[in-house]
Amino acid sequence: MIKISRPVGSAPPGLAKSAARELRSNREALKKNEKLAFNAYSSDAVKTALKKIFGRKCAFCESLLLGNQPGDIEHYRPKGAVVVVDPVTHVKTTVAGYYWLAAKWSNLLVACADCNRPRTQTDHDGDDRVIGKSSFFPLENESHRAANPKGMGLEVPLLLNPCEDDPAEHLEFLHDGRVQAARVAGVISPKGDATIHYCGLARIELLQMRSRHRRIVMAAIRHTVAALEAGHDPGADLDDLVAFMHPHEAYVALTRSLVKTHLSQYLHSLGLNQLL
Ligand SMILES: [Zn+2]
Repeated sequence: MIKISRPVGSAPPGLAKSAARELRSNREALKKNEKLAFNAYSSDAVKTALKKIFGRKCAFCESLLLGNQPGDIEHYRPKGAVVVVDPVTHVKTTVAGYYWLAAKWSNLLVACADCNRPRTQTDHDGDDRVIGKSSFFPLENESHRAANPKGMGLEVPLLLNPCEDDPAEHLEFLHDGRVQAARVAGVISPKGDATIHYCGLARIELLQMRSRHRRIVMAAIRHTVAALEAGHDPGADLDDLVAFMHPHEAYVALTRSLVKTHLSQYLHSLGLNQLL
């Protein structure tokens, strides 16, 4: 997961209008205790615009989407009911969701099915458990959960938002591709911890993919260092590294971590510091 810039004016034309129209209709439905309808967010134009921003990869796990799945339009704050897990008893309850953000451009991400949909998957420890962000949206303090737009100022979400947080401050990668919550001022990041848990960023198939990616990147790093130490131009190996560091590539957070660790003394001379 890396920080992603959502450019001003990047929303598809017409989304704001259709979102406002749908919100008016849903507010009327709420008054009548009728079912809400959410369609404005799901247009092809929205999906295309999101994929352009997120580089056709999952905003959470950085797996590439094209080739094996279309990608889900994901609501950072769930549009429907939110499932709340009691931190002590682990009992689940359901509370009202953020219907007013259902088609809000800043609330929309793109995610892979494994991060987004609740399904039984194998975690890093070999245990099968239900993984997927789904309708979860944990907060630092549940009593501050917003019931309307005005209440959002008090909320402190526990899930990382790639367009607002810098995931590099909350997640750190180990030598085998595993990920763990980073320490912030000596304390394990609750945001890193919760995001790994709910999105399954340590699920075993993802670890395999990151481990494979690590081997490829490390080969390029080793060849680059060997060339530099011998006084040669690293050539294609350095080109490969630069390509792997492009924000639209898979597993860029891991690549950046490896480059920082293993090419620290060459970052400035190679211009790689500008890509971190
Ligand atoms: Zn994913």
